Amino acid sequence: QPETELESRSVRVGLLGGTFNPPHLGHLVIGEQVARQLELEKVYFMPNAIPPHVDHKEAIAAVDRVKMVQAAIQGNSLFDFELAEVERGGISYAYDTLLTLVQKHPNYEYYFIIGADEVAYLPTWHRIDELMQLTHFVGVNRPGVSAPKSEFPIQFVTVPDLDISSTDLRQKIAHHESVRYLVPDLVAAYIFEKGLYQDDDRN
Ligand code: ATP
Ligand code: MG
Repeated sequence: QPETELESRSVRVGLLGGTFNPPHLGHLVIGEQVARQLELEKVYFMPNAIPPHVDHKEAIAAVDRVKMVQAAIQGNSLFDFELAEVERGGISYAYDTLLTLVQKHPNYEYYFIIGADEVAYLPTWHRIDELMQLTHFVGVNRPGVSAPKSEFPIQFVTVPDLDISSTDLRQKIAHHESVRYLVPDLVAAYIFEKGLYQDDDRN
């Protein structure tokens, strides 16, 4: 019988939250690298409903972002998805999400994976001190973002630099530029089949 709350959480899993508008190779590489380097059993890709700090006029419907995430992670048995935030709806505060998830999965020890740009924003996250009690945080390097220092106890993992962002991809698609090898083929196929991101004004 485990003695403490933490010892009872024996399954190490990653959580990779984001808008995934659209998902790209940068997301997949950080998920894979953190899973291998920290010996996680799974990484759950978790699309948000409405991101707290972002002007979300650009985010397309959650159902399309979910389908693209599912397409993106296909074929990697380390990867899975978590729909708690899109199912809850509203502004997706990670604190609310983790409260639900730790109750739902009492044996999971969560590692919340964030890029360097998000590390810088961490102090502004809703109920960050309480959130720190519910999950570990893992920061990864991101091109164009200087190595962040944080007042919080974050573990850093070095990943290959991939200078890819969803913002840049939306622009490329609207301008009919190639996104091949920047997004998984299945994601590109979905984008073009549905005609997503074609309208420059929404990007
Ligand atoms: P947008 O430009 O719309 O913000 P994004 O590329 O930042 O899109 P998000 O869905 O916002 O994608 O990212 C989810 C998480 O993945 C965030 O923590 C972000 O920092 C991280 N991330 C995204 N792309 C990279 C990358 N190329 N390298 C490292 N981390 C990344
Ligand atoms: Mg982002």
